[in-house]
Amino acid sequence: MLQDYQVLRIPGPTPVPPRVNRAMTQSMAGHHAPQTYQIIQNIKPRLKNFFGTSQDILMIAGSGTSSLEAAVVNVTTKGDKVLVLSTGVFGHRFTEICESYELDVDEFTTEWGQPFPLDEVIEHIKQHSDIKAVFSTFCETSTGVLNPVGELAKAVHAINDDIIVIADGVSAVACAETKMDEWGLDIVVTGSQKGFMLPTGLAFIAVSDRAWKAIEQNDTKGYYLDLTKHRDALEKGNTPFTPALGLFHGLDAVLDQLEEEGVEEVYARHTLMRDMTRAALKALDVNLLVEDAYASPSVTAVAPTDFDAQAFRKVLKEDFNIDVASGLDKMTDTIFRIGHMGYCSPADVLQYISAFEIALTKVGKTIELGAGTRAAQEIYLQKTTTTVTQ
Ligand SMILES: *Cc1c(COP(=O)(O)O)cnc(C)c1O
Repeated sequence: MLQDYQVLRIPGPTPVPPRVNRAMTQSMAGHHAPQTYQIIQNIKPRLKNFFGTSQDILMIAGSGTSSLEAAVVNVTTKGDKVLVLSTGVFGHRFTEICESYELDVDEFTTEWGQPFPLDEVIEHIKQHSDIKAVFSTFCETSTGVLNPVGELAKAVHAINDDIIVIADGVSAVACAETKMDEWGLDIVVTGSQKGFMLPTGLAFIAVSDRAWKAIEQNDTKGYYLDLTKHRDALEKGNTPFTPALGLFHGLDAVLDQLEEEGVEEVYARHTLMRDMTRAALKALDVNLLVEDAYASPSVTAVAPTDFDAQAFRKVLKEDFNIDVASGLDKMTDTIFRIGHMGYCSPADVLQYISAFEIALTKVGKTIELGAGTRAAQEIYLQKTTTTVTQ
C-alpha cells in the first residue's frame, strides 16, 4: 500500500489544505514586530462571520479544551451554582472542569445520541434560581448530536437575563451555522483543528457584553486564561503572551479559502456531506446513532447492529489507509464516527462510502455493492444545481 496516502476522516484533527501548510512556513517574528501586528489585523475582523458576532474573537495558544476551561474560570467563582448539559463526553468535560474549580455543579445528563431536552432544562432552571451559568455543547462530537444551543440561549434569557449561557462550539464553528449575537449566546468557543482545518494549538473565544460584565466583576480569573488580558492585548493588535504565529499565518489562509467559498456555502457543504453520508448508510441498512432531526453536519456516528465496528475500522485502515474514529468512553467499541468537517468535500464522501461498501463486505455484512454510493450520488444531484457547460 502507498504508505504516504492517508485519508483522515475523523472528527478532528482534519487534514490541512496545501495552501494553509504553505502559509505556515513563514519565518518567525517577535510579538511586537510589524508583521505580527499585521497578521492579527488581517484575521481579527474576518473571524467574526463564523461566530455570528460583532465581538472580537480572542485567540489563545492551547488546544480546544483550554477554551472550555477559560469559559469556566472567567465567568465563575468557587462555590457558584452552575448547570452543565451533558450529552456525551464533551458535555461531561465541562462538569469535570467546573468540579476542578470547586463549583456547585448540577449536571443534566441525556442518553447518548439524544440532544438535551430543552423544556426540561428550562423547568430545571426555573426551579433553581441561583444558577449563574449554563454550559452546553453545540455539536457533541462523541455522538454526532447537534444540540439546540440557540433556542437554549433565548429560552434561558427569557427567564433570567443575568444567566451566562456558554456553548462549546469546537466541532460546530465553521461547520454549522452559528449566530451568537442573534441567538443571545454569551460565550462560544472553538479550537483550530476542526472546522478551521488547521493543526491543533489555537483556541478561540467569543464573549458577549453580558459575559464581559460578569468577567469584569470576577476576582478569580486565573492567570494565563484571564480573558481581560487577551482582550486588552487584542485591542492593540497584540497578544499578552507569545503568539502562535505560524497558526495565525495558517488561519489567514484558511479565512481566504472559506471566504472564497462563502460562509453560507461552507455550511451548505457540511450539510450536504452529512446528508450524503446518512443516505448512503441507510441504503446499506447500517444503523445510525442519531435521528435526522439532531444530526450534526460535521460528524456522523454509526452504531452497527450486525457487524463489528472496530473490525470495520481495521479493514478501512489496512486496505485504504482511511481513518474513521472509534467511539469514546462507554461507546468506544460499539460505534464508529466519521468526520466530515473542515478540509473535506462531497468528493471525499463518495470516496469513503465506496470504501465502506468494500469494508462492510469484508466484515461479513451482506450488501449490494454500489447501493450506498448510488444513494449518496442521488442526494448530491438533488441538492446541487445542475450546470451544463458546452
Ligand atoms: C475536539 C473537541 C474538544 C476538545 O478539543 P481538544 O483540542 O482536544 O482540547 C472539545 N469539545 C468538542 C465538542 C470537541 O469536538
